[in-house]
Amino acid sequence: MKSKLIILGCGSSIGVPRIDGSWGKCDKNNKKNRRTRCSAIIMKGTNSVLIDTSPDIREQLVSNNIKNISSVVFTHEHADQTSGLFELRPFFWKYKKKINIYGNHKTIKHLRNRHEYLFKKVNIYPPIIKSNIIKGKFSLGKFNEKIFFKTVNAVHGATKSLIYVFEKTAYISDCNDLSIIKIKFLKNLKLLVLDCLKYQKHHTHFNLDDALFVHDHLKPKKTILTNLHSDIDYNFLIKRLPKNVVPAYDGLKINL
Ligand SMILES: [Zn+2]
Repeated sequence: MKSKLIILGCGSSIGVPRIDGSWGKCDKNNKKNRRTRCSAIIMKGTNSVLIDTSPDIREQLVSNNIKNISSVVFTHEHADQTSGLFELRPFFWKYKKKINIYGNHKTIKHLRNRHEYLFKKVNIYPPIIKSNIIKGKFSLGKFNEKIFFKTVNAVHGATKSLIYVFEKTAYISDCNDLSIIKIKFLKNLKLLVLDCLKYQKHHTHFNLDDALFVHDHLKPKKTILTNLHSDIDYNFLIKRLPKNVVPAYDGLKINL
């Protein structure tokens, strides 16, 4: 069965425009520059696996007409990846089933501490989330809708971010770990979704030079740059990229 990936959000932690209306160096007349915080969804038949729950997740699902999610995989514990978790409550009310979430040990521990009421009964409110700690490979979904994942932790500043590989695609939204070019299962993929925060060097993210270095070494058929800060204008960047590297934009759909 065919699968697709939708980039729900491709902005950095503050989004574009920023809450005070600043567009940075982005042309506000280009719709592709309006960026919500990083999140994506993998869809294979009725199996819809959300990657991260950004603060914009409600708007992201509504605007992409996504009516159900099967499970959630988390890259790491930062607020721009996790703070929309409580927005998933209507899916529990609708389907009367706990939502399974997956992440590394640190991310799950953080989520359970910060959103205790979603995991344990508090007053009259039932728990709606079931947490699962990932170690290595796993799969989600049934029969021909099953999606197989390989994972590896990579350095993202002071923390670690989980890289997910599925359907010949890698999703790496937050990373500054150039040693990932040595990971065998990241080589020669069909698609690489890759962190590219800024043009300048950054201590927790890949900048453009880093992203192109990773692209050149891993040699995917196509690379989509994500986690784009407000100093990266879509048209300015796309003109300077090799033809199989493109900036992401919110709502971008890719058949895998
Ligand atoms: Zn982060």
